[in-house]
Amino acid sequence: MSLSRSARTVVSKIEIKCIKCKIRITTDENHETCQVCYGIFKTNLSGNKVIDGIIRNTQVNFVTGSKDWILEFIPYDQFKDIEFIAEGGFSKIYKAIWVDGPIDYFSFKPDTDNIVRKNNFSVVLKRLDNSKNITSEELNELKVYYQILSNDMISNGIGEYFGITQEPNTKDMMIIMPYYELGDLMRYLSNNFYNISWRIKLDRLSSIILGLVDIHRAKIIHRDLHSGNIFFDKDYAYIGDLGISRSATESNNDNERYGIIPYMAPGSFIFAGPISDDSVISV
Ligand SMILES: [Zn+2]
Repeated sequence: MSLSRSARTVVSKIEIKCIKCKIRITTDENHETCQVCYGIFKTNLSGNKVIDGIIRNTQVNFVTGSKDWILEFIPYDQFKDIEFIAEGGFSKIYKAIWVDGPIDYFSFKPDTDNIVRKNNFSVVLKRLDNSKNITSEELNELKVYYQILSNDMISNGIGEYFGITQEPNTKDMMIIMPYYELGDLMRYLSNNFYNISWRIKLDRLSSIILGLVDIHRAKIIHRDLHSGNIFFDKDYAYIGDLGISRSATESNNDNERYGIIPYMAPGSFIFAGPISDDSVISV
């Protein structure tokens, strides 16, 4: 009798489904969630509805298996050596060190940290002016980036977005991106032109083209592609600043703000709406 009771207990333990993803089983009867959901949902939220909606959406998609990456809200005290470097159209740009750093990979082995990070990572913080009460529209670039990530395979040619932090005094929101140590296209070429072989130049051009292909495959048009939005590190070139990028299939909104008009891709000025092959003109 006791043996059969024990066998039944084991069966019922196996059948406890995680309440979050409803896919995996819980680690034991004392937990309501599986190891994966526990690791993902224990991360920070901002308390801001708009931001947390976006972050939560990426987490839910991750644990249910439909996407394989998440965006994060990171507390401001995670950043040190914050240094102002530039002013953009509607933002200020800072360089900083992110102490814990961005996600390197996910590990769901028992008794280990679920999220393995690249510690002391150099980042750019893009502080959005007067963004205390941020709207979903102002976070367009994060949403566009996430849409591009939904391609089956993407190249290395798109600048990453890690998520958002909030400056505690002004409550302004700051978008977190990598700091590319070799700068933008103009700086890269003017500092290194004679030291860069043709092989490397063609490799970097190929990174830019593949990045554009990824953007267009996601049915997005960049709409602000210029030398200041293409960044370099020692391995690749990256297309950055998806701030005014748009879906190619949605209707255009004429009441938009533009950061740097002189550099707008010519296709964006056609009244009938942007063309999707700005890549041809820009590259
Ligand atoms: Zn789960």
